[in-house]
Amino acid sequence: MAIDPVCGMEVDEKTATITSEYDGKTYYFCAPGCKTAFDKEPEKYLKGDASGGHQHSHQH
Ligand SMILES: [Zn+2]
Repeated sequence: MAIDPVCGMEVDEKTATITSEYDGKTYYFCAPGCKTAFDKEPEKYLKGDASGGHQHSHQH
């Protein structure tokens, strides 16, 4: 399983359809909104600070 860097959810790489490449790596997302947020500010999420304000409603 991969981790959605935006919200922290687990995403199965085999079935994931929402992906983004950044810095040579592929990241997987649970929802289009997560990819959009990541594409805007990838470094924010890759720094491990995912608690920057607007999280959506996934709870794990
Ligand atoms: Zn997500």
